[in-house]
Formats: sequence, C-alpha cells, structure tokens
Amino acid sequence: MYKASLTKLHEEMRRCRRCLEAGYPITPGAIFSGPATATVLIVGQAPGVREKETGLPFSGPAGKRLFSWLTEAGFEEEEFRAAQYITAITKCYPGKGRSRGDRVPTAAERKLCAPFLARELDIVRPQLIISVGRVAIDHFLGRGKLADLIGVVFKRDGRLVLPLPHPSGANLWLNRPKSQALIHAALDLLRQLKQEMAL
Ligand code: SF4
Repeated sequence: MYKASLTKLHEEMRRCRRCLEAGYPITPGAIFSGPATATVLIVGQAPGVREKETGLPFSGPAGKRLFSWLTEAGFEEEEFRAAQYITAITKCYPGKGRSRGDRVPTAAERKLCAPFLARELDIVRPQLIISVGRVAIDHFLGRGKLADLIGVVFKRDGRLVLPLPHPSGANLWLNRPKSQALIHAALDLLRQLKQEMAL
C-alpha cells in the first residue's frame, strides 16, 4: 500500500509545474530517490545543476562531501542510496542565482512544494530525518545558529531530526576549525543512532 502511494506521489511530483505556473524560473522535473521502506530520510535544499543532469539527488561535489560524512558515520553510499530516501525542500532545479552558485528557492517556492515533503514523510515514516543545509534545517527546526544545532539530535512532531550543514564548497562555515569539530560530533551521533536504531 505504501509503495503504491509513493509511486503515485512520485508521478504527481514529476508532473508538477506549480512553480513555473507561478512565474518562478525553475527547470521542471522533480528529483528524489529511495523506497517507501527507508528508515532514514535526507532532506536537502534543492537539486543543483549536476543533479539536474543526472536526475540523482546529491550526485555533484556537495553530494560527494555528504557521502564522505555518511561513510564516516558507518553508511556505504551504494547501500544507502538503495535503502534510504533522499529528497529536498524544493524538488526542481531552481537555476543560477546572482552569483555563480545555484539560486536558493524563495519562501513562496518552498511553500508551493511543502505539501509534497509532508506526503513523503507521511508515506515513508522514517525513524530519522537528516536535514542538510540552512533551508532544510529552518524547515524542521526553525531559525537558529548552526553552532547551536550541529552535533545535536532533536525531536520534532515525534520524529528525530539530525541537522548537518550544507556540504557545498561555497559554504565557508565548513572550513572553521570549530565547525569541523561540530560536524564530527554530529557524525559520531549519527553512527550511534545507526547502531542503536538499526538504521
Ligand atoms: S519545485 Fe516542487 S512545487 Fe515547484 S514545480 Fe517542482 S515539484 Fe512543483
């Protein structure tokens, strides 16, 4: 039943043109991966240009760093991609911003896409949500300093949420020694949760 519901939702997401119809310059084609049986659900900000080309979430340089973090926590990339669910706050490529990087989806775009994430969560019912980057962290935990959030696991609406910073090379926060220590603390916590909860 859950598998059928997820297949139906995926079809709706792929067909969705809400942002284009509202005048936002996204490239339509929702990008996500994973089965209804996943115990971990990763939520990023939005697909990047590499993800637009491959159709696979976190397949660019930021994804490489994210999977190096997950490896440190005891996950293996191929197995993780097959067993766990990966999605984003907005599912379609938002295009370039004013700088060279990809545009951050607007609040209006996030609102348009939010019902899809709510339905993904209802169907998959993950034991652990990993929110990656400022936009996804804000969605689950509200605004707060990364220094206070990274390295901690939170309970929201009965679900465990572990925040991680955005793994993009453009994220200068990652390079600070204190940030590195917090990221390692978060990955230690993730390793512990993986063992305790058999994720
Ligand atoms: S980002 Fe979300 S709401 Fe916007 S067109 Fe894509 S699937 Fe639809």
